[in-house]
Amino acid sequence: MSTVIEGRTTATCGDAVEAFMERVVAQSPGETVFHQAVREAVRSVMPVVMENKAYQDSRILDRMVVPDRVIMFRVTWVDDQGQVQVNRGYRVQMNAAIGPYKGGLRFHPSVNLGVLKFLAFEQVLKNSLTTLPMGGSKGGSDFDPRGKSDGEVMRFCQAFMNELYCHIGPDIDVPAGDIGVGGREIGYLFGQYRKLTHRFNGVLTGKGINWGGSRLRPEATGYGAVYFAQAMLETRGEGIEGKIATVSGSGNVAQYTVEKLHQLGAQVVTLSDSEGTIVDRDGITPEKLEWVKELKNVRRGRISEYAARFQGSKFLKGKRPWSAPCDLAFPSATQNEIDATDARHLVENGCICVSEGANMPSTEEAIAVFMEKKILYGPGKAANAGGVSVSGLEMTQNAGCMRRSADEVDQALKRIMTSIHANCVKYGKENGNGSSFVNYVNGANIAGFIKIAEAMVQQGVY
Ligand code: NDP
Repeated sequence: MSTVIEGRTTATCGDAVEAFMERVVAQSPGETVFHQAVREAVRSVMPVVMENKAYQDSRILDRMVVPDRVIMFRVTWVDDQGQVQVNRGYRVQMNAAIGPYKGGLRFHPSVNLGVLKFLAFEQVLKNSLTTLPMGGSKGGSDFDPRGKSDGEVMRFCQAFMNELYCHIGPDIDVPAGDIGVGGREIGYLFGQYRKLTHRFNGVLTGKGINWGGSRLRPEATGYGAVYFAQAMLETRGEGIEGKIATVSGSGNVAQYTVEKLHQLGAQVVTLSDSEGTIVDRDGITPEKLEWVKELKNVRRGRISEYAARFQGSKFLKGKRPWSAPCDLAFPSATQNEIDATDARHLVENGCICVSEGANMPSTEEAIAVFMEKKILYGPGKAANAGGVSVSGLEMTQNAGCMRRSADEVDQALKRIMTSIHANCVKYGKENGNGSSFVNYVNGANIAGFIKIAEAMVQQGVY
């Protein structure tokens, strides 16, 4: 049976996906990670679109892959040697159908428009999944904070905010952190926003605890990824306790993933950064983790120093953690850090569950391996939604001039992760041939998509 999809007549769902992707690639040449993110989502949601005339008539998919607007600007600042430096700044406001734009800022030399469009597109579906009223956006700069002094980072953040401030606001667009943007950077950005606007409001999340921040916001993404793994494992009668886990990265998400895994009785044996991986078969204990936090957040050193500090551990230069045998894997560094070879290593070495703290850390080929082997695979837009969920709670705290205790936030985080998991199961369960496999990719994409599509249809053609 042929169906008219987004202005074209197509025979099958696969044809419809191909025709749609041809158009996306032609309209955004070179933005390969954006194409990858869109393809993954469109494969999941096309069957839903093909059955819904209102989504077709309103051209929901065509509208969702074009940002509401993109703001691009020059960031000019002065380094410690008195030299003028020039960077590119961006904010991609992707979709605000269900709430104000919300999404992090990334400061990393690899940042470009395609990377931020991929992250903003993922953010739209993720924020919809959280059950909180938040649209999706993402921003950042090709500025590299590595090796910069505090003064340089502050001057850069101030210059960045000089342009961004007139495009954001508590009910317009609320940025937060991401790679290269943590508590220090949010502080400098907020200070400059206040200076420019004479306003103290919830324009950013991830703020300091004494000036409007939420308890457990730094912990939320990592803790949430572990809660999501816990929920997936429970569907197979398994738990976290006694399991061996590999974690990549050593920044915000990685640190709190390790912390929660340890609290729940798992042994974490790896961490990494862009230079390589440390393997510690004795496990990363709370004492060792405190040392890593000081290394990364205060001294801003390299993970290779861990091997020199702790006997029995080793540093594998230029390697990723995925060859180390484990039961559970938590990619928590960056996009496409698990390829098909890594995925096969993980599965062959006994990994039964992958919960993504990072955004899109697995390539399409790696995901295909996880699906074929039917392991528990939680995609980032579901598994790492804990961070933006607690950011959502921070927004409500700021709007209501109130505070929540750490315990209240933790309970809310658990509740939200459990509800995201339940939604993924609802839309991702594949019944048939006596199996009850949950395809969490389909589940997350469809659950996130339907809420936005309904809102867009109800709000008319805009
Ligand atoms: P951080 O900047 O705190 O840490 C990033 C870590 O990843 C560092 O160890 C960094 O190593 C490593 N890394 C970055 N780029 C690469 C690369 N190209 N290859 C290998 N390692 C790399 O960032 P976060 O922990 O905040 O973010 C990590 C991931 O989690 C990202 O994908 C982010 O989008 C995602 N995420 C973060 C959320 C949050 O709340 N912070 C929320 C949801 C998702 P090095 O120091 O060498 O660069």
